[in-house]
Amino acid sequence: MEDAKQGQKAHVLVVPFPGQGHINPMFQFSKRLASKGIKPTLTPTIYISKSMQTHTIPTQYGPPIQIRPISDGYDDGGYAQAESTKAYLDSIAIEGPKTLAQLIQKLAEEGDPVKAVIYDGFAPWALDVAKKFGLVGVLFFTQSCSVNSIYYHVQRGLIELPLLGPGPSTVSVPGVPELQPWEVPSFVENYGSYPFWFDAVMEQFSNIDQVDWVLCNIFYDMEIEVVDWMSKMWKVKTIGPTVPSYYLDKRLEDDKDYSLQFFKPNTVLCKNWLDSKPKESVIYISFGSAAELSEEQFKELSCSLRNSHNNFLWVVREKEQTKLPKGFIDETSKQGLVVGWASQLDILAHEATGCFVTHCGFNSVLETLSLGVPVVAVPQWTDQGTNAKFVEDVWRIGVRAKVDEKGIVRKEMLEECIKEVMEGENREEFKKNAAKWKKLAKEAMYEGGSSDKNIDEFVAYVIG
Ligand code: UDP
Repeated sequence: MEDAKQGQKAHVLVVPFPGQGHINPMFQFSKRLASKGIKPTLTPTIYISKSMQTHTIPTQYGPPIQIRPISDGYDDGGYAQAESTKAYLDSIAIEGPKTLAQLIQKLAEEGDPVKAVIYDGFAPWALDVAKKFGLVGVLFFTQSCSVNSIYYHVQRGLIELPLLGPGPSTVSVPGVPELQPWEVPSFVENYGSYPFWFDAVMEQFSNIDQVDWVLCNIFYDMEIEVVDWMSKMWKVKTIGPTVPSYYLDKRLEDDKDYSLQFFKPNTVLCKNWLDSKPKESVIYISFGSAAELSEEQFKELSCSLRNSHNNFLWVVREKEQTKLPKGFIDETSKQGLVVGWASQLDILAHEATGCFVTHCGFNSVLETLSLGVPVVAVPQWTDQGTNAKFVEDVWRIGVRAKVDEKGIVRKEMLEECIKEVMEGENREEFKKNAAKWKKLAKEAMYEGGSSDKNIDEFVAYVIG
């Protein structure tokens, strides 16, 4: 307790990039820090903080975690308000550091000075601000180390782009299996396809040599060789998975869910529906908070689910629901449930869930590993293809559905993959592997586990 009391003096700012998949892990990590005697203050954007019901996050360890927003320049509408991705990224790179610096100044004036800034890799400007104030700079990676290592190699000119030039088209970086072009992050594979996101992922490494710590939201066993390789260059520590404690070590009693959801989950409806289904009979499908599927892809998915004759629970964000084939929801109401948003963790933890058809966003991958659910990987873009490679060939908890020449996963392919994971001869193997990863994820977070020890080391450093 003495440590905790003393630690309240160690005040850190936690600066996430404003996306669901970025905020969740950084908020979760803040709860861990609070439980170990650090005082974290979260700095979402003003727009995002407006959508939060409260301006604090309660913890049972001491005072609630404070929210002190900064600006991305779009205080009324966030990303959706911006004219373009470029406009948004340009704006946050100007307003973010400006308002972060003002906040650090203000906190000092309030007698609550900051010691360290833990920032999302997508917000590298936060490190420049931290260094200007002489603070500890801590990079927090919300994507896998393999993905980050690939970006690092590109940024340093060690991988030449475009990939499909006259040279070899596969990608090899230390500690990562050789990757086919479609297994490489899409911004690298399709060089030029999303130039502003490409710049954003590269920028993570523009000032990395000035960081004091690099924290990765994985547990060590997931990517041993890559972590070891990265550790030669920076002070790298694995601190994940940042899945709520209730689903892992259960040491943080009040940590049962993510504290901020962009959409309202249909928790009770999903639970009641799952409760009425036999064990491992349900296919759960979700493409996360951002991916936008084509109407054609929706048609293929809908057909494959109908044909599979399995129960299914499908998260289709409200805006995307108009792309579903007409009448699909009513016609399949005995077989499936379509909701706009769900408590994904509850679904993955439910015994009725038999497999997860996922876009392989990194949080979804961490969650399915932590909860031991086999996967059909249907990656869409960004880091998801690389995550899918690991799902299939490294962690071996499922299969990847292949796209055709138009980039669409056809219904026959989906049916085949779903069948293989739900009832194929490898199902037991997938389940066994998933159970192994679930155990390792828990062990990492238990007292004295690899991630727990790393967090303790970091906390001791910050408390100093
Ligand atoms: N999620 C959720 N309910 C849903 C779908 C997703 O709570 O219906 C959560 C999921 O648990 C994960 C996050 O949203 O924590 C999505 O992050 P991920 O990295 O998987 O994908 P992204 O949204 O960044 O593409």
